[in-house]
Amino acid sequence: MKGSSADATHPDGPPGAGKGTQAKVIATHFHIPAISTGDIFRANVAGKTPLGVEAQRYMDAGEYVPDQVTNAMVRDRLNLQDAEGGFLLDGYPRTLAQVQELDSMLDDLDSSLDAVVVLTAELDELVQRLLQRAHVEGRADDTEEVIRRRQQVYAEQTEPLIAVYRERGLLVEVDGMGEIDAVTHRIFDSLEQPA
Ligand code: ADP
Repeated sequence: MKGSSADATHPDGPPGAGKGTQAKVIATHFHIPAISTGDIFRANVAGKTPLGVEAQRYMDAGEYVPDQVTNAMVRDRLNLQDAEGGFLLDGYPRTLAQVQELDSMLDDLDSSLDAVVVLTAELDELVQRLLQRAHVEGRADDTEEVIRRRQQVYAEQTEPLIAVYRERGLLVEVDGMGEIDAVTHRIFDSLEQPA
C-alpha cells in the first residue's frame, strides 16, 4: 500500500467472495475503520430506522439500495472523526454513479484511494458459500432466487467498475478462492507490491 496522508482502500468482489471477512482483517492491520455499507444497512434494518425501512425492501429482493440513499450515508460516515486517518470501504462503490460521488467526497476531504482490492471467485463456489451463510446466519437476502438476482446485479452494475479502477492504476486483483488465511496473505502480498 502506498503511504499517503489518508490510506483509503476498498475490497470489492461478487457477493459471497468473503470480502467482509477480509475487509475487517485489512482494516485492523492498518488501524483504520472498515466501513461496510452492507453492515450499516443491516444495523439500520435491525434498528427499524427510516433508512432501514427504506433499504430493506431492496436488500430482501437482491437489488441495490438507490444511489442517492447510499451516497448520503457514506458521505456522513466518512465525515466522522475516526475516518480522518484513513478508512477502508467494504461494498462501496458498486455503481458508476457511486464512483463519481465517491470521487467528489474524496476531493472534499482532500483524500484519495490508495488501492481498490477485488476478490475474484468462481460462480458455483460463490453460490455454495452464500447458501452455507444463509444456513448459518439466516440472512433474508440469501435465498437461492435472491442470490441469483444479486449475482446478476453485480455483473450488470458493479463489474464495469473493475475496468474504471484498472484504468486509474488502482486495481489490485486477488484470487479469493480457498482458505480465509490464504486469501488474507495474498491480499497483503499484493498491497505491498509497488504500484
Ligand atoms: P454482499 O457482499 O454479500 O453482497 P453486503 O453486506 O455487502 O453483501 O450488502 C448487502 C446488501 O446491502 C446488498 O445486496 C445491497 O442491497 C445493499 N448494499 C450494500 N452496499 C451497497 C451499495 N454500495 N449500493 C447499494 N446497495 C448496497
